[in-house]
Amino acid sequence: MQILVLNCGSSSVKYHLFDMETERDVAGGLVERVGQADALATHRWAGGSAREEVAAADHRAALLHIREVLQAHGGDEVAAVGHRVVHGGERFVQAALITPEVERTIEACAVLAPLHNPHHLVGIRAARQFFPQVPHVAVFDTAFHQSMPERAFLYPLPYELYQEQRIRRYGFHGTSHRYVAGRAARLLGRDQDDFTGITCHLGNGCSLAAIEEGRSVDTSMGLTPLEGLMMGTRSGDIDPAIIFHLAAQEQRTLPQIDQLLNRQSGLLGVSGVSNDLRQVQEAAAGGSHRAELALELYAYRVRKYIGAYLAVLGRAEAVVFTAGVGEHSSQMRRRILEPLAGLGLVLDAERNRDEGSGEREISQPSSPVKLLVIPTNEELVIARDTRGILLSRASS
Ligand code: ADP
Repeated sequence: MQILVLNCGSSSVKYHLFDMETERDVAGGLVERVGQADALATHRWAGGSAREEVAAADHRAALLHIREVLQAHGGDEVAAVGHRVVHGGERFVQAALITPEVERTIEACAVLAPLHNPHHLVGIRAARQFFPQVPHVAVFDTAFHQSMPERAFLYPLPYELYQEQRIRRYGFHGTSHRYVAGRAARLLGRDQDDFTGITCHLGNGCSLAAIEEGRSVDTSMGLTPLEGLMMGTRSGDIDPAIIFHLAAQEQRTLPQIDQLLNRQSGLLGVSGVSNDLRQVQEAAAGGSHRAELALELYAYRVRKYIGAYLAVLGRAEAVVFTAGVGEHSSQMRRRILEPLAGLGLVLDAERNRDEGSGEREISQPSSPVKLLVIPTNEELVIARDTRGILLSRASS
């Protein structure tokens, strides 16, 4: 059985084709700069790859191109399509078969994710045209965190804002946190749903999750992905009064402040070098004080959240690192973890330095809390959820 996984962003469409017998990703690629004259497509399949400029005036054209490439390279028996959808609001606690009613709910959630949900919808509608005979399934970044208790998801604001406008914490990266928590459970010799610990997704966007017996009980992103940790270009937690100050004292407009907090802050804003951790690390090694400061702030804020989530959980079997920074930057893991030995998180310097890929333990054998690196695989989770819905439909 083949399952196609699609991720439609504002100017890109990413795809992965899975063979579900082996759960292997047998083809994949990306059309970027969708809507521009110089749209670029990159594809790979068993035994080959291609990179070419394509005409992709919109998502529909990009998807049509992807379907042609798939048909030419063995992807002609797609049984279902799984779509990544960032925001599912309070309605979706798991993946859903896309019906007109589900589409309307995704549309209604667009007020909470204006940069994402409208593009997902365009992609869903186009994909339904090009793959009309097969079920389409939505898998939501927010769904895994719907198990958070009220004390974790409510803001201490007038309660009416929650009742009337659903202003609350939702959390994101749920598919990634769910996947690595499941893998951690397996590595610890447990059932997939039996993990208690902390998962750290550190990529361009960053979030932590506190997981109790396989369920998310807290996570660092909130109503939007701006809350929580310092990220590539996002500030994460700040005193909200900074916004009033910038507006009142500097006459900055709300869109300008939005831009400042989402696009000009984080690693980029503090270092003045880049949002890319590798470049910030290089600049710090070359003597840049601001780059060094950016790395220290980043690590310090992750460490504070780990401390907070140890307190939330009362115990942790493991702390898991994933995504670009979490998987690859031994330096950042060391900065985060070294001061935590007294809390039972004992890093093994040698194992941490090992730049291997794949799942691995980086704590000392005697460490009370295991430290793990687990590459994430959000696409596989989307493919599995899609297969699950396909099979449950077939049996009902
Ligand atoms: P996204 O959130 O866009 O999916 P990724 O998970 O790919 O992003 O993470 C991107 C981040 O990972 C960048 O800051 C990049 O510098 C960092 N990164 C990737 N590889 C390495 C590496 N080998 N060493 C340090 N940082 C890395």
